[in-house]
Amino acid sequence: MRNKLVVGNWKMHGARAANAELLSALLAARPFALDVAVCVPFVYIHETAATLAGSDLRWGAQDVSQHEQGAYTGEVSAAMLAEAGCRYAIVGHSERRAYHGESDQLVADKAQAALAKGVTPIVCVGETLAQRDADETEAVVKRQLSVVIHQLAHCASEIVVAYEPVWAIGTGRTASPEQAQAVHHVLRAQLHAATGHGDKMKILYGGSVKADNAKTLFAQPDIDGGLIGGASLKAVDFIAICRA
Ligand code: PEP
Repeated sequence: MRNKLVVGNWKMHGARAANAELLSALLAARPFALDVAVCVPFVYIHETAATLAGSDLRWGAQDVSQHEQGAYTGEVSAAMLAEAGCRYAIVGHSERRAYHGESDQLVADKAQAALAKGVTPIVCVGETLAQRDADETEAVVKRQLSVVIHQLAHCASEIVVAYEPVWAIGTGRTASPEQAQAVHHVLRAQLHAATGHGDKMKILYGGSVKADNAKTLFAQPDIDGGLIGGASLKAVDFIAICRA
């Protein structure tokens, strides 16, 4: 039995007062019947940690450097995230792949750097609309994931995967539960073939998840929860999703 997990991705949103309000609403809404985490901008990690410490809510980052340390201005290492108590680091989000040119290999390097310091990478994969229309969804997500699996070898079973169709992120368009389940099924089979533990690994769905579609999405056999962008910024919406 896999525990469900819902992770909020605040992206580049937030301000100290608003964050405090949002986090205290989440704390007050507990207990949830699933695991809940928030991935916040780097600069807010310490405050988030101080607020959530001692609770069952977890926190994380939205990216991590592939390097251990050194002259990499602007980068944040996995060791720093671990020291700040981060449980998770999102890697390979489609916005980073698109706007920062992150390759499959770089995403794999980042996942490895995170795991080496005990931070669980949430590895995002997903196809663009053009790729879906060209019937390339399966090939694209399998290629993205295979580079990570190959790089991590026997540690690959320790990652969390997030299937996030690019055409569904921040657009209000959601993959239907059947479309999402079909891709999750493919990913789980790939994970299982590579690690022997695919049945125990979490695969989250992300892309315009809202309170009203979360329940049917999360009810699919291979969907273990969600990576939530826009809706994670409003306490009522995020709490409703966590209760779905
Ligand atoms: C995301 O940023 O990971 C995401 C899924 O965004 P949204 O929920 O806003 O589509």
